[in-house]
Amino acid sequence: MPPPSRPTPPDDAPDHAPAPSDQRPATLDACRRCDLWRNATHGVPGDGPTPAPVMVVGEQPGNQEDLAGKAFVGPAGRLLDEAFAKAGLSRESVFLTNAVKHFKWELRGKRRLHKTPAQREIEACGYWLEDEFERVAPRVVVALGATALKAVLGVKATSLRKVLGQPIEHDGRTVIPTYHPSYALRVPDPAAREAAFDEIVAALKLAAKFSGKATRKRAGAAVTKRAAAPRSKPASKPGPKPGPKPGSKPAAKP
Ligand code: SF4
Repeated sequence: MPPPSRPTPPDDAPDHAPAPSDQRPATLDACRRCDLWRNATHGVPGDGPTPAPVMVVGEQPGNQEDLAGKAFVGPAGRLLDEAFAKAGLSRESVFLTNAVKHFKWELRGKRRLHKTPAQREIEACGYWLEDEFERVAPRVVVALGATALKAVLGVKATSLRKVLGQPIEHDGRTVIPTYHPSYALRVPDPAAREAAFDEIVAALKLAAKFSGKATRKRAGAAVTKRAAAPRSKPASKPGPKPGPKPGSKPAAKP
């Protein structure tokens, strides 16, 4: 049975309260930048070391992630673990997160089924993704699926298939677009499923290669004491300054 929806809090906000998109909450639990918190059990923060050379961004938590308050612990996460193992990349070395931190779903019978986040929800939650970019400072970002790619590139539309597996330089990072593991799980044709899984593995291998190159380059720069030109930062910084750690519950962190 799905968990009950959260009760709507009393509307005691003063008239001068900022619009949802202007709010700068300190925790996921306090976030009201969009309405997805209303029907979710937990906000699901990113998970992994900070800083980390590689960040993997998915779309949103699934049913099991919502209940556990942890990223990538459901079937898609297990497939991603297989892909990590095949790519020779340790999951513990990677920061895993989602473009949207609350589960968006619709009820079908007794099951809560995933619903794709709207553009306004992706943009609202960009506040948290930018905060994670600042804390994690990844050199390489693997975008799992079209929603993640739009969020990472800050665009409203993109064609995943056109750029699949092709590294894109953006904001001083290499972005590698690939399929979301849930796509590799649900595509009906077994050959297409295998091909999608192989694409994910190839993207993770590429991420490992690019992050290794970046590390060597940085080490070289330190030896020669040549100051590297700072990479361009995002035009706006919607995320909070490092300080209060985002996340609905400390227990949600590993
Ligand atoms: S989905 Fe993101 S922006 Fe919307 S309420 Fe949750 S944390 Fe806030």
